[in-house]
Amino acid sequence: MNDFVGSRLKMKRRILIVDDEEINRALLNEVLKDDYEVLLASNGQEALDIIELEEGRLSLVLLDLLMPVMDGYDFFEKMKKDESFSRIPVICLTSEKEAEVKSLKMGMADFISKPYDMPEVIKARIARIIQLYEDRNIISATQFDMLTGLFNREYFYEYSNIYDHFYPDNAKDVIAVNLNRFHIINAVYGRDFGNRVLKAVGETIKEYSHANQGVACRYNADSYYIYIKSGEHEKVLYERIAGSIKGFVDDYDIRIRIGVYKDADTGLDFGKRLDYALLACNSINGNYNKKIAYYDDKIREKEHFEAKLIHDLDKALAERQFKVFFQPKYNVEGEQPRLCSAEALIRWEHPELGMISPGVFIPLFENKGLIGKVDRYVWEETAAKVAQWKKSFHHSIPVSVNVSRVDMLNENLCSDIKKIVDNSGIDVKDFYLEVTESAYTENRKDVLSIVKDFRREGFTIEMDDFGTGYSSLNMLTEMPFDVLKLDMAFVKNIHTDEKALRLVEFIMDIARYLNVSVIAEGVEYKEQYDLLKKMGCNVIQGYYFSKPLCCDEFENLLKQLQEMCDAY
Ligand code: C2E
Ligand code: CA
Ligand code: CA
Repeated sequence: MNDFVGSRLKMKRRILIVDDEEINRALLNEVLKDDYEVLLASNGQEALDIIELEEGRLSLVLLDLLMPVMDGYDFFEKMKKDESFSRIPVICLTSEKEAEVKSLKMGMADFISKPYDMPEVIKARIARIIQLYEDRNIISATQFDMLTGLFNREYFYEYSNIYDHFYPDNAKDVIAVNLNRFHIINAVYGRDFGNRVLKAVGETIKEYSHANQGVACRYNADSYYIYIKSGEHEKVLYERIAGSIKGFVDDYDIRIRIGVYKDADTGLDFGKRLDYALLACNSINGNYNKKIAYYDDKIREKEHFEAKLIHDLDKALAERQFKVFFQPKYNVEGEQPRLCSAEALIRWEHPELGMISPGVFIPLFENKGLIGKVDRYVWEETAAKVAQWKKSFHHSIPVSVNVSRVDMLNENLCSDIKKIVDNSGIDVKDFYLEVTESAYTENRKDVLSIVKDFRREGFTIEMDDFGTGYSSLNMLTEMPFDVLKLDMAFVKNIHTDEKALRLVEFIMDIARYLNVSVIAEGVEYKEQYDLLKKMGCNVIQGYYFSKPLCCDEFENLLKQLQEMCDAY
C-alpha cells in the first residue's frame, strides 16, 4: 500500500499551517516549502474557511494550540464534527508536555514540539503521518458502502470470519433484509429519493448491529445482511426499519421482508449461510401479510426439489419429457364463438415426480438463466405441430408461444425464432408471440428494440398479463403490439364486483385508444363471458371454453370442427 501511494502520486501535498504568530508560520513555511504546497491561516476561523474551500485537497493541518478567539482544541472539535474534514490528519504544535498528551487523547495524529530546532525530524514526522492517513483512507473507502456506511460484501465476509474465529462458541444468526418492490420507488420518486430511503435503512441496521454484537453489510441495491449473536432480533429490527422509512413512503409502496437463518451452522461455507437466510426471505414472496420468515425444513425441501429439477433438466429435454399443451382461443365477435387460435403451454411429465405445472418450474428456470432452452423446445415443438395441422386440415391454425422476459436478453432472439419458423415451413403469420407486460417495464430499451425487430419480420405480438406490469399509458403508446391480453386477475370478479367490471371497461377503452384487439384470459363462467362479449372483447380464452388440451385432444377438436365444416 505504501509503495502504491508513494509511487502513483508524486505530486506535492498541500499542508495548512494554523498559527497566530507570524514568525512561527514563516519558520515552518521555510522548512516545508520545498517539499509541500503550504497554505497559511492566522486563526481558527480562517483555517476552517480554507479547509472548506480546499475540499479534500488538503493532506495535513499543523495546528498551534494557543490562539486567541478559537484555540486549537476548539478548532479541532469543530473540524472533527464534519465527516469529510475528519479524514485530514492534524499535528499540533506545542511547547507543553501536558498538551501533548491531551491532544493525542483527543484524536490528533501527532505533535511537534516548539521551538523548531530539528527540521529533519519535523519533515520525517509529517511525511509519515500523511502516508499513514492516505493508506487508512484508501482502506476505509474500499471497506464501506459509500451510501450507507455499512461494510461492503468482501469486508463483510472478512469480518464475519474474524467474528467466528474469535467467538467460536457464540451461536449466531444470519438475517437477510430486503426492500421488496424498491425499483418502483426509484421509478416513481427518482434515484435521489431512493438513495435517501436506502441510507435510512442502512443506518438503522448499522446502529442495531453495533449495539448487539453484529456485523452488517449492504449486499445489493436493496438488500442487506446481518451476522449477529443469536437472539430475538428480527421483530425489533423490523419495527425499527419500518420506523426509519415511515417519513418517506407508506407501507403500500415498499415492503420490508426479513429472512432468518437461526443458529447458523458455522461448518457451512459462509455464502451458503447467507443463501439460507435469503431463501427464507424469498419464501415470503407474494404473501402480503407475512414479514418475517425462517429457514426451516419446508424451505430445505423446496431447495432440494428445485436442485433436482435443475439437475434433471437436460435429460428431460433429451428424452422429451416436456409436453406442449394447447389451450383454444375463441373469437367472440360474431354470433357464434369461433376457434381462431391457441396458446402453447408447457407441462413436465417427470418420470418420478409426476406432472409438474409450469408455474413451478418456469420461474425457477428463469431465475437460473435456463429458460432459453426450455422455450426453444416449446417453439420448435409448436412450429412443427402448426405445420403438421396446416397439412392435415388445409388451413392454418395460428398458435401463440410465450417469450420469457429472460429470453429478451438474447440479442439473437428474433433471428432465432425466425429460423425455427422458416425451418418448419410455416408462415410468421401462424406463430404469435406473447410478451409479458412486466418484461417491458423491467427492461424497456431491449424489449422495445426486440419487439420492433419481431414486427419488422411480420410476427404478431400479444402483450401478456396486461395490467400487472405498471406500464404508464405513455409507455404503452411507445411499445408496438397487436393484441392486449387482459390478465385473469381482472376478469376474475367482473360478474360479482361492480368496481372490477368498471376497471375492465376502462382497459377496453385503453385498447380502443391504442387501436389493438383484446383477449380476455381465465374466463370460467358464462356470466363473465356475456359481460366481456357485451363490452366488445374480441377473443376469449379460459376454462369456460376449454382447459389446455394435450396434443391429441387438441387434434381431435380440430378434426371435429373440420367434420362439422365438411357437413355444411
Ligand atoms: P400465462 O401465460 O398467463 O398462461 C395462462 C395460464 O392460465 C395457464 O396456466 C393456463 O392453463 C391458465 N388458465 C387458462 N384458462 C384458465 C381459467 O379459466 N382459469 C384458471 N384458473 N386458469 C386458466 P399454466 O399452463 O399453468 O401456465 C402458467 C404460466 O407459466 C403461464 O402463464 C406462463 O407465464 C408460464 N408458461 C407456460 N408455458 C410456458 C412456456 O412454454 N414458456 C414460458 N416462458 N412460460 C410458460
Ligand atoms: Ca401467456
Ligand atoms: Ca397471461
